[in-house]
Amino acid sequence: MTIQFLGAAGEVTGSKHLITTAKGKRILLDCGMFQGKGMETDADNRNLGFEPKDIDYVILTHAHIDHSGLIPYIYKLGFRGDVICTPATRDLCAIMLQDTAFIQAQDVRWYNKKMDRQHKPKIQPLYDINHVERCMHLFVTVGYDRKFRVCDEVMLTFTNSGHMLGSAVASLEIKEGGETKRIAYTGDLGRLHSHILCSPVPFPQCDYLICESTYGDRLHEDRLVTEEQLLGVVEDTCVYKKGKLIIPSFSVGRTQEIVYVLNQLYNDGRLPHIPVFVDSPLSVNATHIFRMYTDALNDEVQDTMRFDPDPFGFNTLKYITDIKESKALNNDPRPCIIISASGMLEAGRVKHHVANHISDPSCTILIVGYCTPESLGARIQDPNKKWISIFGFDRKIKAQVTKIEGFSGHGDYTEMIDYLTRSLDVTKLKHTFIVHGESAAQQTYKDHLYEAGFRDISIPQKGESVII
Ligand SMILES: [Zn+2]
Repeated sequence: MTIQFLGAAGEVTGSKHLITTAKGKRILLDCGMFQGKGMETDADNRNLGFEPKDIDYVILTHAHIDHSGLIPYIYKLGFRGDVICTPATRDLCAIMLQDTAFIQAQDVRWYNKKMDRQHKPKIQPLYDINHVERCMHLFVTVGYDRKFRVCDEVMLTFTNSGHMLGSAVASLEIKEGGETKRIAYTGDLGRLHSHILCSPVPFPQCDYLICESTYGDRLHEDRLVTEEQLLGVVEDTCVYKKGKLIIPSFSVGRTQEIVYVLNQLYNDGRLPHIPVFVDSPLSVNATHIFRMYTDALNDEVQDTMRFDPDPFGFNTLKYITDIKESKALNNDPRPCIIISASGMLEAGRVKHHVANHISDPSCTILIVGYCTPESLGARIQDPNKKWISIFGFDRKIKAQVTKIEGFSGHGDYTEMIDYLTRSLDVTKLKHTFIVHGESAAQQTYKDHLYEAGFRDISIPQKGESVII
């Protein structure tokens, strides 16, 4: 059989890896969108590198758009196979893919106006809301730790990877001749001790490992340190400087984690008495889904819920869906916390909040997640930058821009290697493929894996095929 690496090879978005079995079954591991470079990623997203009609199955590790975002696109181009994922991943995809269709429509409208002025050709969105609605019929859900027969030659098991609600390592057993080959694809790996999610659960032994490497060269702060850092930024911005604290955050996962930490600080009487706004319709819907799957949350959240039934809500917190209320925040003079999407500042309401407050020295922009190097979220962190262009206007950077890494949904290299070595006898591995990381992180991660006893490690290039 062959594995072809079609995205997230030497970068962190666009996860797509195509397995073609000896009998010709085509299984796509994730179907992610390239993100983080604005409209420049459009061509990358359209050039899939395979014929959608020929794909038999998509095995989806989790709902993040860089892993799931092109499912409606391949549906539009004729894919009618099964999309196999966990139940929470399916529910989150239903709202996240709709949101992505909505953002695309906005982006394309803006881009086409610009092209019109320059007398250049216009483009169409990759897909629209109708494709999202129709592709959801293809989803088939399988719980964790259930061996699922994909077809005669392929068995699949999902194991909780602790990265986001519903996230999984996909373990495949593929029969070929008289032999069974075992492939494990990690998707994204979570932290050992998340604020809200269960720790990653060891997955079955494999022969071939396809592993993420986002933080292959980093170490994160401990969970308790992270909470103190957040409280410090809140006090400094909202109490001492009486400004607004703006937190760009992925709507799903990161936002609920930050809200949960603020909820704990509130319960402990340590959160200053200031309004907290979650300004993102998607976050509101995602939080409903988190409330449905509370059994997937860690023991600490379960304990909290014994006396606080809603760990994602407290008296001074308000969820905002209405666009008028969102705009009204600009003229609200009170110190407050605004949590809004997107996490990399590429789109969404948070971009407006940042544009409106970036030149106010009393305000803080707090980055809490990974930002691809080309994204506004990464560019705004450059300490040498005095001006930044947002919505086509140059704005002076006077607000403080700061970062807390401990809210990452990805484990650092020690957490990932600890998890892998708890799951696997590494001496039995035939090969490890490193994906989903920037080149420097991947090289360093390769060295760390070698030190931990892994051998035969490679970093595939985009488009590369290997025969196993
Ligand atoms: Zn992810």
